[in-house]
Amino acid sequence: MDTPPDERHGSVPETTGGEGQGLDRRSLFRLTLLGGTGLALDGLLDVRMVRAATKDLKLSQVSEFTTSCNFCSCGCGMIAAVRDGNLLKMEGDYDHIVNRGSLCVKGISMFATHASPKRNKVPLYRAPGSDHWEELSWEEAVNRIAKKIKKTREETWVATEKVGDKDVTVNRTDGIAFLGGAQNTNEECYLFQKAARLLGIPYVEHQARL
Ligand code: SF4
Repeated sequence: MDTPPDERHGSVPETTGGEGQGLDRRSLFRLTLLGGTGLALDGLLDVRMVRAATKDLKLSQVSEFTTSCNFCSCGCGMIAAVRDGNLLKMEGDYDHIVNRGSLCVKGISMFATHASPKRNKVPLYRAPGSDHWEELSWEEAVNRIAKKIKKTREETWVATEKVGDKDVTVNRTDGIAFLGGAQNTNEECYLFQKAARLLGIPYVEHQARL
């Protein structure tokens, strides 16, 4: 008499566990097969490389740069992610000495201002007595500012000052002041100071002190 299949391989029940809870032999076989295939694929494909490649695709063409929040004088650091000139994301910069990655509600809302139709992207000029603003090109704006600085400097130049009986050379302008902002980096502030001193501007202030 032939031995029943189950008895040939020992006592393997048709199902494991109670009714409706266990796996039958066919399901177990399928699971084993799938697991084996998975292991084989795992051997063929380096899962870490696949994950890294997926990550690369997601971040493809994305560049990051650091910037500062422009809303208040704290000057919290931010990281901006950009693709094709479009801002994708802004977050607090964890390496920034001021905020260590945190941002207040104003800072977080900076992302929304980026795409706002009210955002000002070109220099605006309102002539004396005018009731409206005119758009200027950046070149026009820079030229206007340069001419005004030159004119004001020449008109208000102080070459010497009396100290007691003596005329002391001071070489400064009393007609121009320079105001820096909390968003300026140390390097920018260094250059601003140089420019201000070269022009003879002694009045150099900072937004955060006012
Ligand atoms: S995130 Fe808030 S505290 Fe920091 S600079 Fe912006 S407005 Fe100021």
